[in-house]
Amino acid sequence: MAIDTGRSSAGWSSYGAWRKCPRKWAYENVYSLGTSGGGARGLGTLIHELLARHYLVKAGDTSQPSIESILGTVGNGMKADAVDLARSRILSYALQYSAEDWTPIAVEQEHRIGFLPQEDGSVLLVDADTPGSVLYTARIDLVVKDGDGRVWCVDHKTASQIRESTHTRYGLHGQFHGLWHIGRHHYGEAFAGTLINFVQTWAGERFLRVRPPAAPSMIANFPKLIYATASEMQLWKGIAKVPEDWPATSHETVCVSSYGVCDHATRCRFG
Ligand code: SF4
Repeated sequence: MAIDTGRSSAGWSSYGAWRKCPRKWAYENVYSLGTSGGGARGLGTLIHELLARHYLVKAGDTSQPSIESILGTVGNGMKADAVDLARSRILSYALQYSAEDWTPIAVEQEHRIGFLPQEDGSVLLVDADTPGSVLYTARIDLVVKDGDGRVWCVDHKTASQIRESTHTRYGLHGQFHGLWHIGRHHYGEAFAGTLINFVQTWAGERFLRVRPPAAPSMIANFPKLIYATASEMQLWKGIAKVPEDWPATSHETVCVSSYGVCDHATRCRFG
């Protein structure tokens, strides 16, 4: 079975990107003006593929390619030390968690829900494709049932170095608030929450599983946030004729992030 670890169709990667900068979102999603990408994302993708294979094999999928085959295909074009690191991490991961009580329920499967506005201003969580609702999707890295029968939505994260601030930040991350709604809708009472499954890369071997810090008010606000974002997208799709018509955020913490200057800065500055 081929593994699709790519973006979900209407997920946080799109809604969240819009919230950061509608102009950047439009450059990349309407006008297909790409980003430069980078080595760290390549290594993260490779480790994700290996983890997906690990859990599909655990679930009994006998059609999975070997680890070496994935390293050869997905790792093609990457530096040798990154491919070696990915191999080392997945072999150690399997050993580290060989006694885990996780039974995989879904691996890299897209889950869909809808958000439906009400007359009183609230927004309800409903089945996807309910008339009048906004679609929200997530391709969840892994859904598992633990030894107590509780269901967890697990997100694999690779980090050069895991710090306290690394997992603190995910408590504020819309991806996890969306996963909470999806988990509750699809798995009901058995759903226990979300988990971050960290794999440290360049700073040395380390694995860590943590729950993102609680953010109940942000989770409660999430349906409204997605409905509002989808409405804004729709509005500007109807209005904008050229890239410069889309609103630009023009904020120094967005235009210059920890990854460097926005790929579109020159285009955005001069039109
Ligand atoms: S330079 Fe800033 S305003 Fe322009 S697209 Fe990038 S993030 Fe948006």
